[in-house]
Formats: sequence, C-alpha cells, structure tokens
Amino acid sequence: MQLSISLEGMPVVLLGDADAARQAVLRYRRAGAVLAHFESPAAFMAAVAVPARPALVAVVGSPVKERGTHDDAWSPVLDHYRKLGVPQVDEPPAGRRGHVTLVGGGPGSRGLLTVSAVKALRDADVVLFDRLAPWRELEDLTTAQLIDVGKLPGHHRVPQDEINRLIVEYATGGGDGAGSNVVRLKGGDPFVFGRGAEEAAACVAAGVTVRVVSGISSSIAVPAAAGIPVTHRDVSHSFTVISGHAPLTEAEHLHLAGLAAEGGTVVVLMGIANLPHLAAGLRRSGLGRDTPLAVVERGHQAGQRTTITDLGKVEADAGACENPAVIVIGRVVRLARGSADGEELRDLAESLMMGAGGAT
Ligand code: SAH
Repeated sequence: MQLSISLEGMPVVLLGDADAARQAVLRYRRAGAVLAHFESPAAFMAAVAVPARPALVAVVGSPVKERGTHDDAWSPVLDHYRKLGVPQVDEPPAGRRGHVTLVGGGPGSRGLLTVSAVKALRDADVVLFDRLAPWRELEDLTTAQLIDVGKLPGHHRVPQDEINRLIVEYATGGGDGAGSNVVRLKGGDPFVFGRGAEEAAACVAAGVTVRVVSGISSSIAVPAAAGIPVTHRDVSHSFTVISGHAPLTEAEHLHLAGLAAEGGTVVVLMGIANLPHLAAGLRRSGLGRDTPLAVVERGHQAGQRTTITDLGKVEADAGACENPAVIVIGRVVRLARGSADGEELRDLAESLMMGAGGAT
C-alpha cells in the first residue's frame, strides 16, 4: 500500500546510518518535515532530547517489514515509538556509491516510466539526462543533482565522449572523495539508438559497475500513441526499426522497400530531416505511392500530433513536421485512430476491416 501524506512542519524521526540515509534525509527535508536524524541506536540513547511524539518514524534499511535483519539494533527505539502509536515506515537505503545505472525513461510521459526506473531515480545522487527523457518530472522523482547533458550553456549538445567522461567522473568521485550513485536517464530504451552501449562500455573500461534498466521505446510506444500497432495479425507480421539520421544507400532503400512491400512495418526514428530523401528512395525502389505513412510528433507528450499520408504525397503533407517524431510506413498505418494512451480505440475494428478490404 502507498499513502501520501503532507509532512510540512511535522516532526519526523529518521533512523539510519548517515551514508545509507543520505537521500532519505533530503527527501524528508524537501517534504518540509522537521527532521531529527539519528545515525545509530547509541546516538539516539545519548541524545539530550528526542521528539516525544513525532508524526512519523522512518527507518532506513527496512527492518519494519523484515524484522531480524541487520538493523534489529533499532528495535528498542521502534518499540518505544510503536507503544506511543507513532506510525513507522521503512526507507530504502541510498543507492551504492560508485555505481552507474543506464535508465530508459520511455517516450517522455511519467506514466511510461518503469517501476525500476522510478526506483533507480529515487536512489540516485546524480542524474544526467537529456530532453527526450521525462525530465520535467525529475524534481518530483529524485533528490539527485540534475545535469542536463542535452544542452550546454551555449545550447549545444554535450558531445558523447564528454558524457561518457562525466558519467565515470561522477561515479568515481573524480579521484577525490566518495563517488556517487549515478543514473544516466535516456529517452525510450537505452539500447535502441540511444548510445547506451557506448556509455556502458566507458563504465566497464573505467572499472565502474554498470547496469541497465530497460525503457519503453518510442519505436513502439509512439506509433501506439496514435493508435497504430506496429504489428497486427493479417496486416503486418514484422516491424523494422531504422535510424533515419544519415541518408540511406540505394541498397538499403531497396531492402526496406522489399520489407514494406511484403507487408512489414518500417519504423523510422530521427528521420524528419531525411524524410524526402527516404521517400524518394523507397519510391525509386518500387514501393507503391499509395503505401500508408504516418508521422507522429511528440508522442505521449503535450502537443502530440499525427499526420497521416502516403508515400506519394509525404513531401507535401509532412513538410512541416518536426522532431521528435516517429515515422511509420506500412499497412498498419490504416489502423491509426484515437490514442492507446487515453482515448478508446473505438474505430480499430472498422479500420481493420478497411485494411483487410484493401481500401486506401
Ligand atoms: N532510445 C530512444 C530513441 C533515441 S533516438 C527510444 O528507444 O525511443 C531519438 C529519436 O527517437 C527521435 O528523433 C524520435 O524519432 C524518437 N522519439 C523519441 N521520443 C519521442 C517522442 N516522444 N515522440 C516522437 N518521437 C520520439
């Protein structure tokens, strides 16, 4: 069960070792609690004054649920407050210093963060994020120091080598002092065109422990936000995700046109700038001009917009589309209606029948 209560101005007793409790201290301060933090049972016993009836007793390391674990030493203190009827909660210990977690943040809405992503953010000391991740929510989700690596003071992206270096430097403490528990928060999934593997390799090379929390990739979730399933029985049996960042070769156009002609779905990320080049290449490779194409901008975010067109008219219809956007090419685009995130998919059955009937 989860309860939300206001602790503004309320006395709270926090029990736990300074390092393990370092983030819990920040959380309770941020919530406005008047905090009495005791780092050991001995410190509690030796205190001149302890809060007589705090609003809450929080203990780091979860002895409340799992009695008999390492911090059984707190039992006398907990028993004392329990007899007074003071509610007790367990607080997870801070994340381990010197570790890095590459976290997939999904396409940008808080609801599409995974439970593991939320936990990793809560346990972090430092979060390096870019603008595709749900960065607006971060103040709510973590007490960590927030570093925007999507932009520098001069509004330029931090180069990848520099991001790699920063991640390692924060994790190791840069040679002086204790390192941090670092989260690198990325849009979508870290291993889908996210350079997550490069960041992981930089950590491994520096001897820093690194783990990955998978995220919901925009390649699937952004089409879904426009009601487009990337596969559907009888409509499409495969989907191929490509980067449109660099112009494709003629051989690549031919290969993709072949996949789409056979009913496969082609999903293009980072493809807005090269969309005219891509469309022309696919047409040259023989893909029908009536092949459905959708551009979904800012999926799962404010200002989401879907443009439905076809391969023959895309330059005219999608010329004003902007990043971030996912391009979907293939028959599944005919299923686009409503939004999988909120609106009902009212017209899906009807669209499906249209698709099966070969309507354009
Ligand atoms: N790792 C990410 C992709 C990074 S590449 C993932 O798995 O989603 C960046 C591209 O992702 C953008 O150019 C755009 O094509 C797509 N993208 C990410 N978030 C998006 C969003 N909310 N709406 C539309 N496109 C998005």
